[in-house]
Amino acid sequence: DKQSYSYIQLISSAFEISNILSSSDLISTSKESKREKPSLSVDGVGGLGHLGGARIGIVAKPSAEFVAGMLGTWLSGGVAVPLALSYPEAELLHVMNDSDVSIVLSTEDHHEFLQEVASKCAARHSVIPPVLSISSQKNAHDHSPPGGIDERGILQRNIETSSEDPALIIYTSGTTGKPKGVVHTHRSITAQVQTLAEAWEYTSADQFLHCLPLHHVHGLFNALLAPLYAGSTVEFMPKFSVRGIWQRWRESYPIEGTKADDAITVFTGVPTMYTRLIQGYEAMDPELQAASASAARQLRLMMCGSSALPQPVMQQWETITEHRLLERYGMTEFVMAISNPLEGIRKAGTVGKPFPGVQVKILEENENEDDTDRVGELCVKSPSLFRGYWKLPEVTRESFTDGDFFRTGDAGKVDVDGYYIIVGRTSADIMKVGGYKLSALEIESAILEHPAVAECCVLGLPDKDYGEAVCAIIVPNAEVKRIREEDLKPAITLEELCSWAKEKLAPYKLPTRLLLWDSLPRNAMGKSSFVTPSLCLI
Ligand code: ATP
Ligand code: MG
Repeated sequence: DKQSYSYIQLISSAFEISNILSSSDLISTSKESKREKPSLSVDGVGGLGHLGGARIGIVAKPSAEFVAGMLGTWLSGGVAVPLALSYPEAELLHVMNDSDVSIVLSTEDHHEFLQEVASKCAARHSVIPPVLSISSQKNAHDHSPPGGIDERGILQRNIETSSEDPALIIYTSGTTGKPKGVVHTHRSITAQVQTLAEAWEYTSADQFLHCLPLHHVHGLFNALLAPLYAGSTVEFMPKFSVRGIWQRWRESYPIEGTKADDAITVFTGVPTMYTRLIQGYEAMDPELQAASASAARQLRLMMCGSSALPQPVMQQWETITEHRLLERYGMTEFVMAISNPLEGIRKAGTVGKPFPGVQVKILEENENEDDTDRVGELCVKSPSLFRGYWKLPEVTRESFTDGDFFRTGDAGKVDVDGYYIIVGRTSADIMKVGGYKLSALEIESAILEHPAVAECCVLGLPDKDYGEAVCAIIVPNAEVKRIREEDLKPAITLEELCSWAKEKLAPYKLPTRLLLWDSLPRNAMGKSSFVTPSLCLI
């Protein structure tokens, strides 16, 4: 049931949605107070378009309709708030109330549910018509806004939004606390998509296989907005499927050296996706493995981010596909800022160098220490920096240094070649054991190399002698677990793990507690760093 849409069809739909949003009925009945300009950290929400900076929630699975909803919001001077279908109702309501959405746009399939939810927060609900139904009736010119399309084919908008006006409120992943609304402007969005498209050489010849949620920056910017800016094709696979992905790659490159017309050329994912893809590959028979690996090799680019890529995963992926994953570092507040290069050395265990125009500073606890290998909090200045946290002026203020660098909350260091290494979050991933500061990421990476380990999460548990004790939570490899259970043994014991790991880790880094779990709880971005001590002490 594949359906493809041209850019002109998407734009037609965006204009239609802009017309719907601008209809006096929706505007006049949406709560008037919500159209006022609530005070942001910096100043009010501007934009004198029809919607005057009103927040428009968008709920749709990754699809052409989602894209049209977002572009239509921008054409009308609204602020898009991507909402997740996967949110439980309470969380959906929290985000809708927090961002003061006036109108919620959804596709027809979620109509009833959203109408009900919208009514609970005094918002209006409107349906995004199927892109095909609009674009087959009319062409883009029929939908053009008052400004029309000029002789060069460039859209002219008659609404008075400035590039400094908010365009997007996108929520952080909620790894370290309640998700925060991050306000991006038209300018910060434009700066970012230009940077990504240039750095990774996205072109109209590219086709992306998109399996990420659209309410986080990885899926929205790296795999959707930047490709659209570059004129690439984006193919949505709304539900991540290991078999589906391998199959789609094999269809793209059916025989070594051949390429289908609609071949996938770029893939970007979170580390857990690559772990799952490796597991899927290992379960294939040798013939299918050969065809799959050969197809994957032929993609132009494979990227990874959103959380630390464990080196064993990176190495296994390289062995199978010959792709050194391009790892980069970003966060909701500035989208992407540091990246390994497209051409040149992609250094394992690093996230590369700052993009052009980006400045990174390492804020050390003791500012006088000046050593390249010192760990400190990464602070970033970037053209794509957000404008502030929505309705959290105090938090916004505290997030900047005196010199206007944004404090990431991530600890890192830079190597002699200028490549950055993320050590962990300044709070959650740095354990304080005795006098040592230990990186949970480093210990996880070492443990993951053990053959009995499929997934791993390391954290500090309160300890009366040392302050914190290193605890490893392990999801065992299914096959190892099965064999060991036949002998009534656990998949791995703490003694076995430590006697193996002492070759790789200093004695004070070795876990003193081990928990074996069936799975790790992960959020929409595959992150497990929100596993807290309380979860382990139950
Ligand atoms: P919250 O801010 O609500 O606690 P979050 O920080 O996880 O959640 P995001 O903005 O989605 O929300 O994620 C940004 C974080 O992801 C970064 O601060 C960093 O900790 C982590 N991250 C992103 N890319 C990488 C990477 N390549 N290596 C290590 N960590 C990464
Ligand atoms: Mg964060």
